[in-house]
Amino acid sequence: MGRVQEYPVVWLQCAGCSGCSVSLLNSAAITARQFVLDEIVPGKHVNLRFHPTIMAASGEAAIEVALGAKEDKGYLLVVEGAVPTAAGGAFGGVGETGGRHLAMTDAVADLAADALAVVAFGSCAAFGGIPATSPNPTGCASVREHLAARGVRKPVVAIPGCPPHPDWFMGTVVRVLLGGLPAAGELDALGRPLAYYGKLVHETCPRRADFEAGRFASRLGEDGCLYELGCKGPMANADCPTRQWNGGTSWCVGANSPCHGCVEPEFLCGEFNYVARAGQARGMRAGGTAMSPHNFDPDVVCSLRRYTPCSTRCFRIPLFVNGTKPALWPPSARRACAPWRRAARRTARC
Ligand code: SF4
Ligand code: SF4
Repeated sequence: MGRVQEYPVVWLQCAGCSGCSVSLLNSAAITARQFVLDEIVPGKHVNLRFHPTIMAASGEAAIEVALGAKEDKGYLLVVEGAVPTAAGGAFGGVGETGGRHLAMTDAVADLAADALAVVAFGSCAAFGGIPATSPNPTGCASVREHLAARGVRKPVVAIPGCPPHPDWFMGTVVRVLLGGLPAAGELDALGRPLAYYGKLVHETCPRRADFEAGRFASRLGEDGCLYELGCKGPMANADCPTRQWNGGTSWCVGANSPCHGCVEPEFLCGEFNYVARAGQARGMRAGGTAMSPHNFDPDVVCSLRRYTPCSTRCFRIPLFVNGTKPALWPPSARRACAPWRRAARRTARC
């Protein structure tokens, strides 16, 4: 029997809800048990050394195992959740070592420095997500932002989603085990693997024909395209319609829920901010969702102000730039364009 090569993985959970780990535990293609115990690629075994949710160990002994990976090199650091950077890292700790608080800020930076690569798992780790929304008193930052602030230069593969699909993580790990780190051409500008994030949800959505024909649902549960109920599929890059969730049984639009664009940095930002919108029900049609274009409020500014304008990939931009109005665009997009133009000028700080 050939020798099995071990690939140490250290998984840190920072400011988040642990939902990304729960999503991974529901993996069907490669089960969590196979991931932890078996050779997921012949001759290669993932040695999950530290994972706060599923490991049996606890306390200082567990922390020492995590930090001990630094001596082995060649390990993968997975970070779930945003990094709370305010007050010198006092808002988030991994545990204690030597009687001292080990801040998430220090653990992420120290372990990243010697890692083979860093995986930012989930939208909080990849972009800041919910913990980084305004006013962000804990100073939450994405992993990439935090490492840049600490001067740690390390490739970061982003696997966003709220939560991310388990296949996106398993496939990326298998890719690393088989062929090393993904080449630059395999990632998009945000560090997301193109294999999973290379197409808009809208491109392969089974309701696309309804969109083109102008058949729009006006209430949840109705047939038709969900655009007028706030669907962000035209702006979200993910393969959800074809891959589907829960072992290939369903997905957001398939379950009659608009796509929330959870894989984008603009998730919870500006018009994507359905959380803010839930408190602004004005103009909301009966049966509509809080993020419907009908509720678009140009005074709502990006809750993640440090990002580029939340319109970066908005498909209204051609209207904004050229003033053209393609006939196939739904009436709501045309109606929303004028306030959007005003908002874009006012929220350039977004
Ligand atoms: S707007 Fe949403 S529901 Fe309509 S076709 Fe695009 S992705 Fe599908
Ligand atoms: S359909 Fe949209 S909201 Fe749902 S998981 Fe995919 S990207 Fe996220």
